[in-house]
Amino acid sequence: MAEFTMEPNDEQKEVREWLHGFAADVIRPAAAEWDEREETPWPVIQEAAKVGIYSLDFYAQQYFDPTGLGIPMAMEELFWGDAGIALSIVGTGLAAVGVLANGTEEQIGTWIPQMYGDPDDVKVAAFCSSEPDAGSDVASMRTRAVYDQAKDEWVLNGTKTWATNGGIANVHVVVAVVDADLGSKGHASFIVPPGTPGLSQGQKFKKHGIRASHTAEVVLEDVRVPGSCLLGGKEKLDERLARARERAGKGAERVKNAAMATFEASRPAVGAMAVGTARAAYEVALDYARTREQFGRPVIDNQGVAFQLADMRTSIDAARLLVWRASWMAVNGRPFTAAEGSMSKLFASETAKKVTAQAIQILGGNGYTREYPVERMHRDAAIYTIFEGTSEIQRLVIARTLSGMPIR
Ligand SMILES: Cc1cc2nc3c(=O)[nH]c(=O)nc-3n(C[C@H](O)[C@H](O)[C@H](O)COP(=O)(O)OP(=O)(O)OC[C@H]3O[C@@H](n4cnc5c(N)ncnc54)[C@H](O)[C@@H]3O)c2cc1C
Repeated sequence: MAEFTMEPNDEQKEVREWLHGFAADVIRPAAAEWDEREETPWPVIQEAAKVGIYSLDFYAQQYFDPTGLGIPMAMEELFWGDAGIALSIVGTGLAAVGVLANGTEEQIGTWIPQMYGDPDDVKVAAFCSSEPDAGSDVASMRTRAVYDQAKDEWVLNGTKTWATNGGIANVHVVVAVVDADLGSKGHASFIVPPGTPGLSQGQKFKKHGIRASHTAEVVLEDVRVPGSCLLGGKEKLDERLARARERAGKGAERVKNAAMATFEASRPAVGAMAVGTARAAYEVALDYARTREQFGRPVIDNQGVAFQLADMRTSIDAARLLVWRASWMAVNGRPFTAAEGSMSKLFASETAKKVTAQAIQILGGNGYTREYPVERMHRDAAIYTIFEGTSEIQRLVIARTLSGMPIR
C-alpha cells in the first residue's frame, strides 16, 4: 500500500505540467467558441488523441497510480482549461470504466478501442443509466432487457436521458432492468455496438453550462444485441441474480438504490474536476484584483476583496486535500467508513459553485460578461452539485454512513 502523500513525485509533476500545457495552449483558447457553439469540440478531442491524452492507456496509467494522485491531478488540470471541453475529452472514460469494472477480458479488448477510435478518426462513448423518472432514484429505472434464448440476443426497450455523448457515441453502455423485483440488484449493463438498429438520439439538451459537452436522450426501441454484449456474461449475471433473490428471500434489507449506494471510489474524480474549475476562476479573480484600480489603488487593497480571495483559496486547497485523501483510499482499498469519497465530491462541488460566484463579484461588471471567462466557469460549476449524485444525495450517503441509520 502506498503511503498517503501530498507531494507529487517527479514523474507526476511532469505529467501535470504536460497536461497543464495542453489545457492552457489548446483547451482554454477554444473554450469560449465551443461554449457558444454548444457542440462537441471534435478538433480538440482529436488534438488530445494525437498527443495521447484521449486514450485508454493514459487513463489506465493514472487510474493505477498507487498514490491515488494520478486521476485527480489529471482531472484538475484538464477542467482548469475548460469544463465543457474537458468533459468531452473524459466523458468516454465513464463508459470505458463501466466496461472495465464489469466486462470480461474479451469485452474490454473488443469494445474499449472502439470507444476511442484512433487519432485520425476519433470516436466517443456514452454511459446511459439515468432516465426521466430515475435520476437519484436509480432503482426506479424502467428500461428493460429481455433475453431471447432462441437467438441468444438481448432485447432492450426504454428511454435514457442526460446521457453525455448520447446518440453521437460509437459505443453506448446501457444499464437496464433484467429482474424488476430486485431493485438495483436486478440491473445489468449492455454494450450497444455501433450502428445497432433501434437506438436513436432523442432530444439534445440546451444547457446552462458545460455546453461543449453533448447531453441527450437515448431512445431504445427493440434494440437487439448479441448475448456477448451483456457485460460480465450470462453465467455471472445468473449467479448474481440468484444470490440477490436468496438474500431478498431471507428478508435481507431491500437493496438501496444504486445512486445512494457508495460510489465512493469514482466521486473524488468529479471532486477534482470541480477543483479545476474553482482554481481557474480564483486565478482570474486574483489577477484581476491585483490590476484593477479604483479609488487610486488596486481593488485587492480592500480587505473586503482580499479576504474573499483568502477564503476562496482556503476552500480550494481544502477541497483538493479531501479529493486526494479519498482517491488514495480508493486506490489502496481503504474502507470508506465516513463516506470520504462522497465528502470530497460534496465539498469540492459546493466550493466550485461558491468560488466561481465570488470570482464574478470580484470582476464586477466585467465578471458578468462573456468577455471574461468567470461567467462561463460559474455556469459550468453548477453541474458538479448535480451529476454523479447531487449534493443532497452525497449528504444522505454521508449521514447514513456515519449514523448507520436509514435516514430519508
Ligand atoms: C449535464 C449532465 C450530464 C449527465 N451525464 C450523465 C451520463 O452521462 N449518464 C447518466 O446516466 N446520467 C447523466 N446525468 C444524470 C445525472 O446523474 C442526474 O441528473 C442526477 O443523478 C440527478 O438526477 P435528476 O436530474 O433526475 O434529479 P432528481 O433525482 O429528480 O432530483 C431533484 C432534486 O431532488 C433532490 N433529491 C432527490 N432525492 C432526494 C433525497 N432522497 N433526499 C434529498 N434530496 C433528494 C435532488 O438532490 C435534487 O435537488 C447527467 C446530468 C446532467 C445534467
